[in-house]
Amino acid sequence: MTPLYLDYAATTPVDPRVAEVMGQHLTLDGVFANPASRTHRFGWDAEEAVELGRSQLATLLGCDVRELVFTSGATEANNLAIKGMAEALAGRGRHLITSPIEHKAVVDCFKVLEAQGFEVSWLEPEPSGVVAPETLAAALRPDTILVSLMAVHNELGVKNDLAALGALCRDAGVPFHVDGAQALGKMTLNLATLPVDLMSFSGHKIYGPKGIGALYVNRGLNPPPVAQMHGGGHERGLRSGTLPTHQIVGFGAAAACYADGALAAELVHLEACREAFLRGLGALPGVHALGAGAPSMPGILNLTFDGVDGETLQMAVASELACSSGSACNSVSVEPSFVLTALGVPRALAFAALRFSFGRFTTAAEAEGAGAWLGERVASLRSPVAVSS
Ligand SMILES: *Cc1c(COP(=O)(O)O)cnc(C)c1O
Repeated sequence: MTPLYLDYAATTPVDPRVAEVMGQHLTLDGVFANPASRTHRFGWDAEEAVELGRSQLATLLGCDVRELVFTSGATEANNLAIKGMAEALAGRGRHLITSPIEHKAVVDCFKVLEAQGFEVSWLEPEPSGVVAPETLAAALRPDTILVSLMAVHNELGVKNDLAALGALCRDAGVPFHVDGAQALGKMTLNLATLPVDLMSFSGHKIYGPKGIGALYVNRGLNPPPVAQMHGGGHERGLRSGTLPTHQIVGFGAAAACYADGALAAELVHLEACREAFLRGLGALPGVHALGAGAPSMPGILNLTFDGVDGETLQMAVASELACSSGSACNSVSVEPSFVLTALGVPRALAFAALRFSFGRFTTAAEAEGAGAWLGERVASLRSPVAVSS
């Protein structure tokens, strides 16, 4: 049997409305041309399609179209923001601030910069996984040139207080970058008022295609990040490379799916799925919700279980439920999630953690059934000597 897909935080399927639009931007009878071709109608049509996609994304974000730079994904957007700002401001200072539980695409950028001689303060998060504004306040220095903290945590679902963190950065005159990959389409983001200078997004976390993302660069940010990809000077020189029309219209169409109250409705749906899953799980003892005690995005539920071997649990679950044993990006490693380790979750419990993430195509009935099935599996794994009749 095909397992039920409960791994929407790793990636989402493309929405059929998005796939349809993308299909119209590939073949000779569609809008296939190079958007940078200024000498013919085909190119003008492609440029128009790209600009429509950009405006759809800008509408969802509450920003100006000129503040968006298309990239290959959130990984590249994080690289551009972090390495680009370090390069732009190296003459002003060498001190950077982030946390050890950021996505690998952020953590590894800072490790590279550390090896190049920058000094990095790795802020200790609260046990829930959020970074307290006081912790950031204590770390800011006159030579700090960048702060990077995520909006919604990809393993835990907890939300950082961007308004408070951003206000501290503004007061200190330090650029603030936010990895927003798990926040887009999962909370209202009004970049016109949020005190954020740079924010990374990914198409495939919002029912768009893989291989497209964007970096928001506040128009007041001076200097902007230094380009990390050189070539034809696309995207106002910030990211060279032929714009992938079909990917961008797909990203734009995916963003447009949240218009007219659909975002609020989807949040209600995700909350209903999370509640149904927990209802199905029932009163099973020895279950811990990681990230508890902080505001969270309802689509992610990270649970760990007393008294079960992590590997056995994962193998038992895999046939019926597609979930994640931490971040998909480090699931090849046999070490427990670096995030849970950094939060001080005991090793055995970290190994037994499962991240369930719900989405647009999950039904509450499926979520409830999955919770009930999981509860039975965990109970039976805890009593391996139970005799069969
Ligand atoms: C998925 C994800 C990324 C990486 O995005 P890609 O578009 O796959 O490169 C970065 N950060 C977070 C928080 C994510 O969830």
